[in-house]
Amino acid sequence: MSKRYQNFIGGHWVDAKSGQTFENRNPANWSELIGTFPKSGKEDVEVAVRAARVAFEKWRLVPAPRRGDIMRKVGDLMVSRKEELSRLMTREMGKVLAETRGDVQEGIDTAYYAATEGRRLFGHTVPSELENKFAMAIRIPIGVAGIVTPWNFPMAIPTWKIFPALLSGNTVVFKPASDTPATATALVEILTDAGVPEGVVNLVHGGGGDVGMSIVSHPDVDLISFTGSTGVGKRISEVASATLKRVSLELGGKNAQLVMDDAALDLALDGVLWGAFGTTGQRCTATSRLLLHEKIHDHFVEMLVNRVSLLRLGDGLKEGVEIGPCVNEGQRQTVMNVKPDHRIAKEEIFGPVLSVIKVKSLDEGIRILNDTVYGLSSSIYTSNINNAFRAIRDIHAGITYVNAPTIGAEAHLPFGGVKQTGNGHREGGWTVYDFFTEWKTVYIDYSGGLQRAQIDNYPIDNKS
Ligand code: NAP
Ligand code: MG
Repeated sequence: MSKRYQNFIGGHWVDAKSGQTFENRNPANWSELIGTFPKSGKEDVEVAVRAARVAFEKWRLVPAPRRGDIMRKVGDLMVSRKEELSRLMTREMGKVLAETRGDVQEGIDTAYYAATEGRRLFGHTVPSELENKFAMAIRIPIGVAGIVTPWNFPMAIPTWKIFPALLSGNTVVFKPASDTPATATALVEILTDAGVPEGVVNLVHGGGGDVGMSIVSHPDVDLISFTGSTGVGKRISEVASATLKRVSLELGGKNAQLVMDDAALDLALDGVLWGAFGTTGQRCTATSRLLLHEKIHDHFVEMLVNRVSLLRLGDGLKEGVEIGPCVNEGQRQTVMNVKPDHRIAKEEIFGPVLSVIKVKSLDEGIRILNDTVYGLSSSIYTSNINNAFRAIRDIHAGITYVNAPTIGAEAHLPFGGVKQTGNGHREGGWTVYDFFTEWKTVYIDYSGGLQRAQIDNYPIDNKS
């Protein structure tokens, strides 16, 4: 059954001003129309930003623990709708049901984490240089947050951004990927049902170049949180710099799993199958390079080819299917022998394609692992603790797993990458609250007189 979806602006469900729409179809069954969505533009963004700006003046005054209570209700509603949301997501973008359930669960975990953060949002108190003076730094909300997200985690990634943004007291203008607007709409319904006041969350559907860019360039949007491709991320960074916005970018990856000759090979095999082919390889943390120590190379490749040929591809809603359809052509091109300097060994493919590279030693493995412009996730399989710690120290990546695959981030830990994977911010856990809050430093002088700070008052001979 197809449905006519709308934008959500200032607490109302509305069409695009242009009246235009776009379609969203099921990639496993192209004849199935999920729904039609408003093809919005600059003028719709304008109204949404205005609504968010007005709502900010009230929302920022709601005590954070009360905002947290709303987040708890959001989590409860997601739990009660989990199966329905998962099925919708599989129909809309193809991942198998087990994985769309995981995607929703990540959102639930993120909601409950946000609920508890409402009772923390810790600042600092520090001693003042002066008598009868109190000093502290507190977190304050920033304003209107523009949220632009990709299609591969249609629920989890928006929740990683929107929940901490709201908990911190910001208001939101949200543009989801054009491939996954239905899941995004369900998320906004849940936020509204949980009691998020009107104007605090605004949803504008439409193309990246139109709606996305209009949000990024809008002078009244204070910060941008973006996950997506490196090319678009760079463009966003340029445009947002014109109004000096705070920008968080989570971009591409070219993640590797290194298997040493002392590794438990069955474990490493399970790891690479899940890391490379889970979500049809369309995770930003997916394993796209497998680095094998030369002593186990041939044997491991044989084990891998045997297992890969047994993977069941198909419609993600069907029982027993392990890999859903992808937006990419190279599905069965699973194992390829490539040289480290081939483009395929360095650039992101975002599909179930795994490059296998032979290495002679730990040092060479780490060197090749690091030889990419990206630095998101990484993995080493070894039973030697010295190898493990050297890898933790020397791998250039935001995430390193030991004896586990490159995928499997937990909601309460920092998530993000180094080099061209991002621009230094982290999502997840406590770290994302650094992005969505501003520090205010507060001095309270209770001496009753003018006290000058130490720099204006230091004894001339530098002796006290
Ligand atoms: P994408 O093409 O960059 O799109 C991401 C979002 O940006 C979509 O909402 C898109 O809208 C929008 N957009 C496109 N062009 C834009 C522009 N000029 N200005 C503003 N917004 C624009 O990426 P994707 O293909 O959807 O997602 C795959 C990429 O995301 C991969 O590179 C993957 O590694 C990365 N990713 C990274 C992480 C991470 O945390 N590091 C996580 C997941 C995915 P439309 O959908 O309307 O085009
Ligand atoms: Mg679709």
